Formats: sequence, structure tokens, C-alpha cells
Amino acid sequence: MMTTTKSVLNELLNLIYPPLCNLCGEPLQQAEKQICLQCLCDLPVIHFASTADNRMAQLFIGKSPFFQAVSWLYYEKGGAVQKLIHQLKYKGNKKLGYELGKLAAVHIMQTHPDFLYPDAKPVDYLIPVPLHRKRLRQRGYNQTEWISRGFSEICKIPLNTTILSRKNENVTQTHKSVFERWMNVQDIFSLTGKESIENCHILLIDDVVTTGATLEACLQILREIPGIRISLFCIALA
Ligand SMILES: [Zn+2]
Repeated sequence: MMTTTKSVLNELLNLIYPPLCNLCGEPLQQAEKQICLQCLCDLPVIHFASTADNRMAQLFIGKSPFFQAVSWLYYEKGGAVQKLIHQLKYKGNKKLGYELGKLAAVHIMQTHPDFLYPDAKPVDYLIPVPLHRKRLRQRGYNQTEWISRGFSEICKIPLNTTILSRKNENVTQTHKSVFERWMNVQDIFSLTGKESIENCHILLIDDVVTTGATLEACLQILREIPGIRISLFCIALA
């Protein structure tokens, strides 16, 4: 009864104040969420046919070993994706993250079905890149976790938010020796209960990848786990 009343009220409110598209500001149709269909069709999707023209994979090749790496959109200064990420990170719109995660999963499952379900070993867990506690307090939520929740809703692969945690905010890896870089990685992320994901295929999820240093730091600490297979995904590649 309560939920019925609530949903009726919600529908009434939507009639009076229809939710607006985060990009063009036009009222959304009933089936649209966060982004209208027109703006969705205009998003700068990354297309690639092989590893050689997969820019996301190219960022990590020759560094830490990984299984597959895919990004959904191009991130351009002043572009639509920057606008969305800004809403997601600084305007409190975590539901936008959830929608982006759902849309991303649909796109990946349609264009690269082998990414989540490769022949021998499908992805067991989705792991969002954690936020430092201080940042989590400021923002109130981890935007990458909301992306991952939406992603999980579509592909039905469970989330794991307990194994990987973040001790420090900064990833400063350029111009450092291998040892310093390794020390830096130990300072940023830590693992809890790593036995639970031994021999698993995990998918690390991030919002925007620029240099790849954050995912690289996650890769370095996670690869210590016996039998682990790690794939990488981000919403947008700068
Ligand atoms: Zn729009």
C-alpha cells in the first residue's frame, strides 16, 4: 500500500516537474533515464576491432599483466562526457552513475560479448576502484561504485567492494624508480581477505582513465593474488 502511494506521488511529481536530460536539459520521456535518447545516440563511443587499435588496452600493455581492457566513451574537454562526469562527481547525481553503468554494460555485452564471458573463465566479480575515506566523506558516495552497481544490474555479475581499499589519495608514479613506484603502490591500496578471490577473474572498474596510473596501481597489488585474472573497464578514456 505504502509503495503504491509513493509511486503514484512520484508519477504526479514527474508530471509537474519532469526530470531533465543531464546533457540538453530537455524533459525526459517516461522510458528515458538521466539522458535523453537523442543525447545518448550522440555520445562519443569508442570503436575498435583489435588490441592494436584498442587505446585502453594500449595504455597498459608492457606494464602489469592484465587479461582484457575496454573503455566505452571518449572523454573530451568541454564535451558531453565531461559534463556527465561532472554531474556524477560534483553535483551529487549518483543515480547518473548507476544509469551510465547500465548503459555501458549493455554496450559491452552487445559489442564485445567475449569481454565479460570469455570462453574458459567468465568474470566472477566487479571491483570498483575505491575512493579514499576522506573523499568518500566529502562526496558521500563512491561514483565508481554506483557505476559498478548499474553494470552489475545488467550483467548479473556480483560486486565486491570489500577486498580492495584505498589508503591514500594520490597516485604519483611518473619519474619514479621501479622500487619507488612499488612503494607508492603499497601506500595507496590495500587488500583485505584476498583468499576469497584466489583463482577468480575480476573486472576492475573506473570512471575516467587518463594516464592509467590508478588502475595500474590496483593491478600491481591485485596481481599478487594466486591464480587471479584481471580485466579492466572504464566509462571514459581521456
Ligand atoms: Zn538530451
